[in-house]
Amino acid sequence: MNQSDTSRHFLRQWIEKDVLAGKTGGKVVTRFPPEPNGYIHIGHAKAVFVDFGMAELFGGECHLRLDDTNPAKESDEYAENIKKDIAWLGYRWSGEGDAGESGFYNASNMFDKMYEIAENLIKAGKAYCCNLTQEQWKEYRGVPERPGKPSPGRETSVERNLEIFRDMKAGKYADGEWCLRAKIDMASPNIHFRDPVLYRIRHVSHYHLGDKWCIYPMYDFAHPIEDALEGVTHSMCTLEFEVHRPLYDWVVDRLDEMGMLRVRGGVKIRPEQREFARLNITYTVMSKRLLLQLVSEGHVAGWDDPRMPTVCGMRRRGYTPGAIREFCERVGISKMESESDPALLEWCVREELNATAPRRMAVLDPVKVVIDNFEGVREVQLPNNPLDPDGGMRKIPFGREIWIDRADFMEEADKKFFRMTVGGEVRLRGACIFKCTGCLKDETGRVVEIHGVWDENSWGGSAPDGRKVKGTIHWVDVATGVKAQFRLYERLFTEKDPLKDGPAEFLKYLNPDSLKTVSGYVEPLLAAARPSERFQFERTGYFVADEYDMKGDCLVFNRTVTLKDSYKPA
Ligand code: ATP
Ligand code: MG
Repeated sequence: MNQSDTSRHFLRQWIEKDVLAGKTGGKVVTRFPPEPNGYIHIGHAKAVFVDFGMAELFGGECHLRLDDTNPAKESDEYAENIKKDIAWLGYRWSGEGDAGESGFYNASNMFDKMYEIAENLIKAGKAYCCNLTQEQWKEYRGVPERPGKPSPGRETSVERNLEIFRDMKAGKYADGEWCLRAKIDMASPNIHFRDPVLYRIRHVSHYHLGDKWCIYPMYDFAHPIEDALEGVTHSMCTLEFEVHRPLYDWVVDRLDEMGMLRVRGGVKIRPEQREFARLNITYTVMSKRLLLQLVSEGHVAGWDDPRMPTVCGMRRRGYTPGAIREFCERVGISKMESESDPALLEWCVREELNATAPRRMAVLDPVKVVIDNFEGVREVQLPNNPLDPDGGMRKIPFGREIWIDRADFMEEADKKFFRMTVGGEVRLRGACIFKCTGCLKDETGRVVEIHGVWDENSWGGSAPDGRKVKGTIHWVDVATGVKAQFRLYERLFTEKDPLKDGPAEFLKYLNPDSLKTVSGYVEPLLAAARPSERFQFERTGYFVADEYDMKGDCLVFNRTVTLKDSYKPA
């Protein structure tokens, strides 16, 4: 964790103060509470960075809690992948746990307790059953400037409320017929405080509990209970929950009255919530619903398509956990909503890969060069990584025929083109100086073969007479090069804000050129590339061997990011 000493943001100061005041009972406990209804994305990674990061910083623990209180759309597939992705990001949940795995909790394992708490509230006259219709509901709730009207349920006896609530639980009513509400304040200027719903009826099977329940707790009721029962000290979430905080505190107060707060180190642990700005990134969407739509309608190849802002997509794209953390660090933690440029994330990825990725040569759009005066085979030696003194050298065979990238050749060109032209000289990376003498074309005028000669005194790449050769070109030996497929990714959307015309219209901003697949050749060492191994292809970009598609002798490389970098972080 890299929360540098300079980043003394408000969350850190808040926790520090509580630690000093002895409010944590000796241990800071946080939680990351994803709902298992989709894969986690870069926005969640930010929350992971905050929740796990703060626990790490204070030597405490962070729980991974699946917030599975909403039965529809949740699944084990999502749950398993959330775990995999957080672990890949480099974080480990710790603490007691509720079912054998330390630090791991399912909110649904607390349903019995939540139900008990709800009954306690009814018995204390602090919750009641309500059967207003949708229309009545709107009318009764009122608007912020005007108080709402009391639901008739407010006057119902405790005994009758208990009876209705038990019947709700027993499945005697249909969805929406009744709900359980907190009795708080129908005149509060905060709408969330006007007798909010605590439980609703939903006849939907839960992915773990099946049909055990047909009533489910609302987030605002469940979340503070989960935090309190787990002994969480600091509960951090995004800004939209700020207006819910009084309700969070109200529930915690009730738990305190019921004697349900945990005690640690002689201190009663009272969880508190604070809010920070969500991470927004331009040129993408982040709502799980829209990401699911991209997947289910086939606009991308899956949740882990390298164009997706999901953690698994970024992994498959070749992004590193370190770069993602560095990005979160640089974006910072604040209460101001803002948009981040994906170029900053790409910059972080380049910074890391430039230092760590082995250099290799790959030709993505090959055209053959024949060196007419070259005989036999020689061996070129190049560093694995010029920035890494311990990186060692690699050996690459070099013969009479090589592949170069088509873009590196122009039959005729002006003086600004420092690559290969007829009559001009270039350096073949690590090998020699080469002079092009001509090219062969097919009937459409497309170049099919380039010819030339090498300077036999230039082995290694420099001319003994000291003459200058500006261009250096990468190549792959035809005899020993290995065929490979390259997937070239661009942004998924052409528009900075794909949602600018609303969520129904975002598909029209899909970038039709976000994926281009080409075939070419790579130097022979890459025949042994392992899935997920990252490289810099010299002069071309950073690539990663695909996590899944490297089968048999098929090599597939995904472009992580290009080399070009005009972006400068602030
Ligand atoms: P989505 O809107 O994408 O469906 P969500 O907020 O419903 O996301 P949850 O699984 O409930 O998804 O989120 C788990 C945690 O991640 C929450 O604490 C939430 O505040 C946080 N989170 C979600 N999106 C972002 C984001 N863009 N930036 C920072 N934190 C986020
Ligand atoms: Mg949510």
